[in-house]
Amino acid sequence: MIHDNDVRSRISTDPWLERDAGIIRSTLLNSVSQPFQWHATTSKVMKCPVCGMDCVRSAKDILATLPAIFEPCDDCSARFLDKRAPLSDLTYGVACSCGKRFIDEVFAHMWVIMTEQGDLEKTAPLAAVGSPLIHPGFAMERPPFLPEKSLVLLSPRVTKPCAEILIREVPELRGVVRSGNFVPGIADPDLNTVPRVYDLLAGCDVRADVFPLTTGPLVMYKQQSLVHIEFPRGGYPKIQAVEQHVGKPAVPYFIDACCGVGTLGLAAACMGVPLVVMNDAWYASAFWSAYNLEINREYLHLNKIRIFEQYDDMQKHPVAKDPIKVAQTEGDQVIEVYQGDYRLLYRILPAGSPVTALDLFDKNDRQALDAIQKDWKARVGGDVFIP
Ligand SMILES: [Zn+2]
Ligand SMILES: [Zn+2]
Repeated sequence: MIHDNDVRSRISTDPWLERDAGIIRSTLLNSVSQPFQWHATTSKVMKCPVCGMDCVRSAKDILATLPAIFEPCDDCSARFLDKRAPLSDLTYGVACSCGKRFIDEVFAHMWVIMTEQGDLEKTAPLAAVGSPLIHPGFAMERPPFLPEKSLVLLSPRVTKPCAEILIREVPELRGVVRSGNFVPGIADPDLNTVPRVYDLLAGCDVRADVFPLTTGPLVMYKQQSLVHIEFPRGGYPKIQAVEQHVGKPAVPYFIDACCGVGTLGLAAACMGVPLVVMNDAWYASAFWSAYNLEINREYLHLNKIRIFEQYDDMQKHPVAKDPIKVAQTEGDQVIEVYQGDYRLLYRILPAGSPVTALDLFDKNDRQALDAIQKDWKARVGGDVFIP
């Protein structure tokens, strides 16, 4: 392995960076290091709804590992590899005594296994291995040194037998997913076609992204093969839009009508909104929104979170039109999570004049967007914005 003692001061133009990591904004680091009042609860491990193991931890436990989790120790070394070229020989470095390994070395290891197994040609560039999604994901300015179980690999080329070998032999991997040339989840706004998803081939693809808030970073878990990839990027414009519309003191009522795994709705709840409704027609999004309430509950003023549906049961109705209540909280803050078509939400919404975020899948058709907003205002009222 080639040692590069200079790695921590180097500004890399590495393609992983552009594709995966973005920039560690001072906002995130500041909000991680800011003193933050946690409610008095003990940290705990939660059972993973996908694999049944202990791969899900509370926001508090995840945040305790930041920002140092992907930083090298004094003995770590980094070999920067050209992602557009194949490996020159079938060798790769092993992890440092601290347990971390530079991401390029992990990719070299996966490339060797995938070429040996015939999933890749020996002429395939290193980047053909696939896309790395790190856990926990947050915007960072240097390529990461990966600890155990910190990487979900999305690869269009990997086969199941090879994925099983990868999981056994590459300790940094959490899960291997076969991806496709489409966005997983709902693509049809009329909800009439069966959504396509990626295939989890080995391990577990549950991972979290971390988003900065002035109240402390949100930790948003998801099952990666079922939902679109959301790279936490510097600036976090959607969260800033929510902060602007929630204001100080917080508005009394906020709706996240197409909530994905619940980032904007939970952000509003963390900002102190007493009544929040989150909704998504896709079961995986609605489920993880409810689950992320539990993950981030230390930020919220809740006595109880009731989750009405299990993940397995929700798979039986992957797309819902008539809203189904998935979760409901009790306490000073009331948060409701629904699975349904946002255009039918008006039937079940609590009374009041909400601020609504309409984070629609397709934002290109300006005329259609105007019509949707007008329709929402006529049925529900309040203030509507497209983040
Ligand atoms: Zn799991
Ligand atoms: Zn080390």
